[in-house]
Amino acid sequence: MTRTLNFSSGPATLPEPVLRRAQAALWDLDGTGIGILEHSHRGAAFRRVLERTTALVREVGGIGDEFAVLFLTAGATHHFTLVPHNFLGEGDTADICHTGVWTGKVIEEARRFGKTHLACNAGPAFDTTPAALTYSAAPRYVYYVSNETVYGTQWAAPPASPPAPLVCDASSDIFSRPLPLADHGLIFAGAQKNLGPSGVTLVIARKDFLATRRPGLPALWDYDSYEREGSLINTPNTFGIYMIGEVCAWIRDQGGLAVLGERNARKARVLYDFLDVSRRWRGHARPGSRSHMNVTFRGDSPELEAALLARAEQAGLSGLAGHRSVGGLRASIYNAFPEHGVQRLVDLLGELEG
Ligand code: PMP
Repeated sequence: MTRTLNFSSGPATLPEPVLRRAQAALWDLDGTGIGILEHSHRGAAFRRVLERTTALVREVGGIGDEFAVLFLTAGATHHFTLVPHNFLGEGDTADICHTGVWTGKVIEEARRFGKTHLACNAGPAFDTTPAALTYSAAPRYVYYVSNETVYGTQWAAPPASPPAPLVCDASSDIFSRPLPLADHGLIFAGAQKNLGPSGVTLVIARKDFLATRRPGLPALWDYDSYEREGSLINTPNTFGIYMIGEVCAWIRDQGGLAVLGERNARKARVLYDFLDVSRRWRGHARPGSRSHMNVTFRGDSPELEAALLARAEQAGLSGLAGHRSVGGLRASIYNAFPEHGVQRLVDLLGELEG
């Protein structure tokens, strides 16, 4: 069977060796005679899975003991609420780098708990990650989305010299390049793009930042209770945690994040180089802010865009429609997306250009 080239923004393409191992583990995990979906989260076999995944996340990410590595059930959106709930008191201000759809939702949620200040505002075009940031007098944290999945922008580096700990939504570029940890209080990432299936979020949190959370929070809404209970307050997404471990082992075997970072940059460059000289297609994000994960672009007419989607589907290329809120086209080319698939897309775009 030929697999479709899946440009979906998430859930997204996963590495083939990982899927094959998971297939076997569904039937029998590590010779236990019980599949991964059937093991108790309190049993020894799953304990080993959790320990292995945690160790691999630490190894691949270069994450030291000053950080907690946690797995929370539910998606990244959950953390748009959990972050202010844990860290933003009534008089506090969250400084937010507003770069698109995802920070728009974050601003709305944070306002339920405290004040917000826009450290930058890339709207309405949302085609950059602004260079100049203006902070409020005493922010509680500085929030940014490392890769804006919908508009296709990515911070080349985190905001420099922030006046408070950085909180980062890394859902769409986690482990796609070396992980910047300096200045960060908390990083969270929904797994369904670069790490595994949906329904589980990886949280990397500095322990001394966790210690500053608001007291008296309900257990399931308190980051620190996940740390105290080793991500086992209740039944976690056991399969998701297994998959994150397998994906991290694959990343390690590929040579680690520096190797993947170079590969991802190369993949994206093939597409951007084409768009930069094309007569009928143009990229959305500006140079310097271009995402290596989600390449957003437009044709010069709705007919051309529709023709691409139709031809792509026939040719075995799927998931190229832009996000429902902005339209246009988007090629999501996460870690596991093959280089030859990007070339196939470029060839198709060239053919339609005539
Ligand atoms: N943040 C970013 C950057 C995303 O791309 C997404 C999903 N595409 C989310 C948050 C929301 O994730 P979830 O659907 O898992 O809540």
